[in-house]
Amino acid sequence: MGYIGRTSSRIHCIHAFSSPRILWTDPTFKNTSRKSSFRGFHHPTNHINLSSPPSYSPTLPHSAVLFNTFSSNDYDETFKNKSNIRDQVLTCISANGEMKVTAATYRNIVNEMMMQHTLTSVSADALGRAVGCALLLSNGMKDQQTFQLTVNGDGPIRGILAISNGLGHVRGYVGSPQLGNISLPEAIGKGTIQVVKNHPDWPRPYNGITAIQNGDIDRDVGLYLAESEQKSCALAAATTIHGILCTSAGGYVVEQLPGCTEETIRTVESNLQQFVLQDGTDKLPTGILSKGGTPLDICSMILHGLDMKPLMQVEPKVLCECNDNRLLRAVRLLPKEEVDDIIATVGKIEARCHFCGKVYRWGPEELELRLAQAKKNAAAETNNNFE
Ligand SMILES: [Zn+2]
Repeated sequence: MGYIGRTSSRIHCIHAFSSPRILWTDPTFKNTSRKSSFRGFHHPTNHINLSSPPSYSPTLPHSAVLFNTFSSNDYDETFKNKSNIRDQVLTCISANGEMKVTAATYRNIVNEMMMQHTLTSVSADALGRAVGCALLLSNGMKDQQTFQLTVNGDGPIRGILAISNGLGHVRGYVGSPQLGNISLPEAIGKGTIQVVKNHPDWPRPYNGITAIQNGDIDRDVGLYLAESEQKSCALAAATTIHGILCTSAGGYVVEQLPGCTEETIRTVESNLQQFVLQDGTDKLPTGILSKGGTPLDICSMILHGLDMKPLMQVEPKVLCECNDNRLLRAVRLLPKEEVDDIIATVGKIEARCHFCGKVYRWGPEELELRLAQAKKNAAAETNNNFE
């Protein structure tokens, strides 16, 4: 099979700061600093916006076992997601507007990707975490805006890529889908975390990069947010995988909003300590999800005592953007001699989409027809979906 397409080289600027102000980079909040710094935060402008969102009135005292709030029925059915049947990314905000939590469940997506790519558990965990981070951090973006997370490590997984847009359409792949039983940090190795944000209307993409420090993806993306985007947030994303089945996958990101007071921070930190205890695993928040907790419950627990209000939700799904035209553009970027050589030796053009595994096969006649048609069209655009 010939290599079709080339690596994108749209890297125009690196926004990495040399003196990071690391804040809530640890999802367990064990190493928090309360220095506030906000930059680059933007409010969500699309999806479901409620004119008068229901307010949450916890019936339990603050010291009560937060897990009991799972049975809360104070909410509109819109935001509930019993047993996490559907995948969901839900954003809630404290009534005082100082703290925002986005929580997600995406077990169905991980299972679909496991089937698409025939992933082993380590590879599925890596891709699941990357997909979770992409979903959490693309939430609230404009529909066509994309968030691309690349984990470029020297470990045997040979890199991880996840892309999501403001609609929660996500795709991704790992370099080694069938990695054996090793730890995630070993699989990933040393290298960089890279984030590219783009929009069709932007003159150039935003690009940020930081070093891999933990090798567990979510904490490294948290460090990226602190170092490169100067955001004060806590991020977690993990999966629970048994054999060929993902039984839970989810994450959350807690963001301090401008003007956040010490009091609110202390309340949330205290809630998070309870949350960590309730979860009981080192893979936050899969313990809560496995016990039946939903994104609404996660938000409720983290924003407990702050009169939380749901802000918006999306139902994320796997959506690949590969098609005949994209492949044709990739083929047209190759030197004619190379295409002729492939046809002469293999007898056809065959390409497989990295993201969804779909295989495209064109014989010489079909290729000729498509190339002739394409000549009438505008210049091709770089595409790196195919090999
Ligand atoms: Zn595809």
